[in-house]
Amino acid sequence: MSDSEYAARAANIAETNPAACWVRVVLDVPLFSHYDYRVAQPVPVGTRVIVPFGRRKMVGVVVEQPATPALEPDQIRDVDEVLTDTPPLPVDWLRFAAFAAQYYQRPLGEVILPSLPASLRKVSAYQGKRSAGGPVHRLKRRKQPAIVPVAAQPSPGLNAEQLAAVEAIGGIKGHRTVLLHGVTGSGKTEVYVHAARDVLQRGKQVLFLVPEINLTPQLEQSLRRRLGGPDSPAPLAVMHSGLSEGERLRAWLAIQSGEARVLLGTRLAIFAQIPELGLIIVDEEHDTSYKQQDGLRYSARDLAVWRGHDSRVPVILGSATPSLESWKHAQSGHYLLLSLTKRAKAVALPAVRMVDTRRLPLEHGFSPQLLDAVNERLERGQQSLIFLNRRGYAPVLSCASCGWLTQCKRCTAYTVLHRARGRHHLQCHHCGYQAPVPRACPDCGDPDLKPMGRGTQRIEEFLAEKFPDARIARIDADSTRRKGSAEQLFARVHAGEVDILVGTQMVAKGHDFANLGLVGVLNADTMLFAQDFRAPERLFAQLMQVSGRAGRHTGGGEVIVQTDYPEQSVYQALKRHDYVGFAKVALEEREAVGLPPYAWQALLMAESRELARALDFLTKAQQLPQQFADAYATAPAVTLYDPVPLRIVRVANVERAQLLAESGNRAALHAFLTAWSRDLPGLARQCRVRFTLEIDPLEI
Ligand code: ADP
Ligand code: ZN
Ligand code: ZN
Repeated sequence: MSDSEYAARAANIAETNPAACWVRVVLDVPLFSHYDYRVAQPVPVGTRVIVPFGRRKMVGVVVEQPATPALEPDQIRDVDEVLTDTPPLPVDWLRFAAFAAQYYQRPLGEVILPSLPASLRKVSAYQGKRSAGGPVHRLKRRKQPAIVPVAAQPSPGLNAEQLAAVEAIGGIKGHRTVLLHGVTGSGKTEVYVHAARDVLQRGKQVLFLVPEINLTPQLEQSLRRRLGGPDSPAPLAVMHSGLSEGERLRAWLAIQSGEARVLLGTRLAIFAQIPELGLIIVDEEHDTSYKQQDGLRYSARDLAVWRGHDSRVPVILGSATPSLESWKHAQSGHYLLLSLTKRAKAVALPAVRMVDTRRLPLEHGFSPQLLDAVNERLERGQQSLIFLNRRGYAPVLSCASCGWLTQCKRCTAYTVLHRARGRHHLQCHHCGYQAPVPRACPDCGDPDLKPMGRGTQRIEEFLAEKFPDARIARIDADSTRRKGSAEQLFARVHAGEVDILVGTQMVAKGHDFANLGLVGVLNADTMLFAQDFRAPERLFAQLMQVSGRAGRHTGGGEVIVQTDYPEQSVYQALKRHDYVGFAKVALEEREAVGLPPYAWQALLMAESRELARALDFLTKAQQLPQQFADAYATAPAVTLYDPVPLRIVRVANVERAQLLAESGNRAALHAFLTAWSRDLPGLARQCRVRFTLEIDPLEI
């Protein structure tokens, strides 16, 4: 959106007319329209109202007070109830929502309403039998959970690099985006804490975004301690998708009323109302969990930068492996680059070694070198981490005589062999379908079915046989399904009750393990040749992150990567801990072929029972610019690639295809998308497909 367009839209939202008897309301419906209603008393913009919509009632938000309504006055219905249990949504927040709606091509109501706690947008919470004064009133009557007193934690003194970073951030007037590039274990958290304290002391609030909260429970505790005074923990609210409705409402009210001064949250917290916002921190900014993958497909990192700019406050993006998007901005001087080049505790980064597995005898996927290294760490009383990005027992089960493979009935994918409570079953990782293990091959009748390859469960089983005295734990999506189980498992690792940890990417992120000496990586090569152009970037980041868990406190850490392609540049850069070199080459390659961050993309995906219909819709969508040249004035600057089926074409009996739109000119792409997103719903109805339009897709 151009600045002038944006300003016009924002002005619209700020327009307040105290005498208005009409209100324009947005609702959580997938239509690009507003609805006008009549009110007895004027209500300010940002007020929540209950309105009739068709035959039902809905909660909506007033976004305008039009002088004249869009319909004839006698066709306009009355607002049913004006909700006043929270103050109107502030104008700057509405402006932020309007930006997100415009940028991601969704109706404003689909941004505003889902960002509110569920009970504030449910008619039944106000007008039901048990509504008793509304959700806010009910919550206030309930007992508050006691604030657990926590002892203050002494801070390490900052080292010179940390100090320089804190001072540079403190010196920022108004908005600036800072890219804090710090090697793993360099003490980025300490920099965030100092920067946050400065802001809190000036009476402002801090938004602290993290990719995942359950995986890093220590962070919450440590922030509570460190951001408060010696006996007063900082009033800190936590927001993530695992909260109950009541917990979410409580956190929302705490930060919105200013009672909480820090909001620690996952991506959805970017939509919180923070009246005295003074600083936004985005930890592990490269992490793909900042991207929402359904509904409004936003990037919380990108929105954080916009929000910081609009609110005139600094934004700190921190990472050991920044996204190439952010790195490019830092190189061009658009972002302020601050670097922490050394580890805070153990001065040395771990030694990284590639083990060439092409000519080695492997034992259950382990090279003799890796097994020796695990053994050595056990003898020294140190922990080892075996990293494998594949959960389950084995990726597929196969017939020994005819080669038949277990396949999902509903997807074009193999079913994965799993073990739960001592028994095996098959499970599809795409649709969740589960089936028992067949007694014999359905094609040839041979009962000899064999697991092929290995996942974390099989690795865990093998290690338990190989090292019978070692205490082994597995952390993956299966072992942490129960609420609180991830926290428990990590607590055991931190308490030294685990000798060998087997895990997926869940263990790679942010953990500060004190006694972990060795990291072994299995199966890294599977990501090396993935089709997505971001695959090398993601592989490099993941390997750097997981390597960074080794030897953080004592030094002497070691990383062993097993690979058939040790000479690949990703591995070579990893060996040198050379993010800067990796990023330089990767950016040059992207620039040479005109890929992001040197181009902008949007992905149109269509779903139907029949692939042909999805492809037909996409082909027609591709032709719209030729049919309506006026509405698509910027189309010549946009490349529309041909529709293609997805690699896994069928999931849960739905077939999927996609079309990529790309341009070297962001404004042109957005003008195009605005026209497109108005035309697509009609076309989709006509072709009887479902579609999603994703802006800045991370996976293609
Ligand atoms: P990062 O997030 O950059 O990977 P952390 O913030 O987890 O690193 O810090 C790594 C470890 O170093 C932590 O145990 C932290 O307490 C410690 N640490 C941070 N700053 C210092 C310092 N200046 N002196 C000593 N230890 C520090
Ligand atoms: Zn067979
Ligand atoms: Zn399936």
